Amino acid sequence: MKQNRIFDRSWVEIDLDAFRSNLKILKSLLDSGQNFMQIVKADAYGHGALQISKAALAEGAALLGVANLEEGKLLRLQGIESPILVLSPALASEVSGFVEHQIMPSISDPEFALRFNQAAQESGQVLSVHIKLDTGMHRSGALDETFTNLAALLPQLKSLSVEGVFSHFAASESDPGYSLAQERCFHSMLKQLPFKPRFIHISNSSAVAAGLGKTTNLVRLGILSYGIKTNEITQAALDLKPVMTFKANLSQIKRIGRGEPIGYNLSWKAQRDSVYGILPIGYADGYEYLLGNKASVLLRNQLCPVIGRISMDMITVDLTDIPEAGIGDEVTLLGDSVPDLRAEQLSSLYGGSAYELLCQVGRRAKRYYFQDQQLESSAPLSRRDFVPGDFSDNKLSAIIEAAVSKRLGSDEIGSLVYREMLSNLFFDRDQDIHYRRNFKHSVEFRDQGPAEHWKTHTSLSFSKILDNDYFLVVCANREDALSRYFQRRDVEYRWLMDENFGLTADVFSISSIRINKLELETTLQVQDGCLEIRCTHPSIHELVGQEVDFVIDTDTLYPRKSHQLSVFITELTLGVSISFRYPQKLSPVECIPIYSGQNRYPELSRTPGEITVQTSPEQGIFPMSGVVFAY
Ligand SMILES: *Cc1c(COP(=O)(O)O)cnc(C)c1O
Repeated sequence: MKQNRIFDRSWVEIDLDAFRSNLKILKSLLDSGQNFMQIVKADAYGHGALQISKAALAEGAALLGVANLEEGKLLRLQGIESPILVLSPALASEVSGFVEHQIMPSISDPEFALRFNQAAQESGQVLSVHIKLDTGMHRSGALDETFTNLAALLPQLKSLSVEGVFSHFAASESDPGYSLAQERCFHSMLKQLPFKPRFIHISNSSAVAAGLGKTTNLVRLGILSYGIKTNEITQAALDLKPVMTFKANLSQIKRIGRGEPIGYNLSWKAQRDSVYGILPIGYADGYEYLLGNKASVLLRNQLCPVIGRISMDMITVDLTDIPEAGIGDEVTLLGDSVPDLRAEQLSSLYGGSAYELLCQVGRRAKRYYFQDQQLESSAPLSRRDFVPGDFSDNKLSAIIEAAVSKRLGSDEIGSLVYREMLSNLFFDRDQDIHYRRNFKHSVEFRDQGPAEHWKTHTSLSFSKILDNDYFLVVCANREDALSRYFQRRDVEYRWLMDENFGLTADVFSISSIRINKLELETTLQVQDGCLEIRCTHPSIHELVGQEVDFVIDTDTLYPRKSHQLSVFITELTLGVSISFRYPQKLSPVECIPIYSGQNRYPELSRTPGEITVQTSPEQGIFPMSGVVFAY
């Protein structure tokens, strides 16, 4: 593998080429009608569930198998859309999560079948499930009358769709006789089911290698796909390559005189004057405690023994026979380089399990993924990934603010942006974010009316979900009076009037106001320096919660002595068109858009006496964007 030198304390390299080659070998053992499910539980046995899932799906995996809802959710959040089956029994508290994320549970009793059915029904969905049968493993799975009851119940549960029925071998790598008996039991139970599922499956990867489960149409591939053999003798012909390599950088070199001890409890004593190295990993990194004084590591292509006990964060290795060793040398602790470093071999040194070793190794290490011999990506362990649903609203708001600040490289500006633009969108969870679409606002000065003022017609239209059975249009002659209405969600239009005017209907009036085709009724009231026009209709309540089309046309006056007109957007809006129509004698009119959002440079078009500033309908524009027309 080509790679740039990695300077981490420790890291895990994942060889996706080896993984795909292992899958090809295992697939070649399948019959033509057989599909496979890739098992990616426990972060794909420590390899990284997301990248392994992607590679497996590219190799044709029909499903992914995980251990629990959390693991499935994480994959969903990372964008995996394939079917996902949770292999272990669910807890009652998790049931709704399965429906929400469309993850398939394994069901092995009637009680949970009912719970899942109800949860699916309540959300108006059908949930695909697999039924787990106990054929001799005697762990989870339905057996005896639980099985009979479940089989009788399932056809009545209309919100469940049984996509698969499965069981699990207890000793597929070691006891073919017991496994065959399990398989027979499986088929006799299947016959008792009053329906035929799409998938039936019983084989794990060792079973596939042992030629078991030929009567099923799906297999579940785990350990062998990661290149670890479970039976050296029967699997000798399979050219499987370990996918994971665990490495560290040598951090220190020391000397010690003959007879001196190293490490806790003085468990190792130098038989000669010795040179030894310190590696910055220990059992907290998943390097098994029991490997002390037993294992070896590879440095400059030579094996050197691990000496002394494994500490939490360090181990010591004998370098006496490798004089060329240097600080910063790359050291392999687990992997494919030599047989001694394979997980099967290392775990046998202490009577452990290769499965366990893979799951625990490199707990503090980043994963580096290699594909086509190139470094393709790297990622910290997935358990550090951000899962938004795990946080309270307050915490989420704090995270958003911190993320914005980080991205902008400034806490000050970050918190400003957050407060000005985002906090009122995210602050209150109960507040649905209803944005406007197809926003069109035009302001027209007509060369009539009193000498000091333009007679002004404004016309506003947009679509939005209707919140209440009324809304307000407000007009004030002082900015502070109007500003009180900026926080209110029941106001759809605000107009700031020249301060010389009184608040009366002859200087600000509504000429037409409609929701869909409904002409609304208005009532007028002066309230703390503001003209409040309440707009409603006896049948408007039927439209609450629906997206409706608003039209608000007003007539007012604008002082001729002013040399500018500003139009601002007060809500999140998709698609904005703002235009200004003016008498020819005002020319030339300049136009300065101040936009924030997807498009900061809206399209400008002019005809004699009119300027229009426009974004396309799908472009989002943030509040406080606007246009200043100067003349
Ligand atoms: C983990 C698991 C597997 C994969 O087993 P391997 O021995 O790793 O191939 C298959 N089926 C179930 C139910 C499992 O829990």
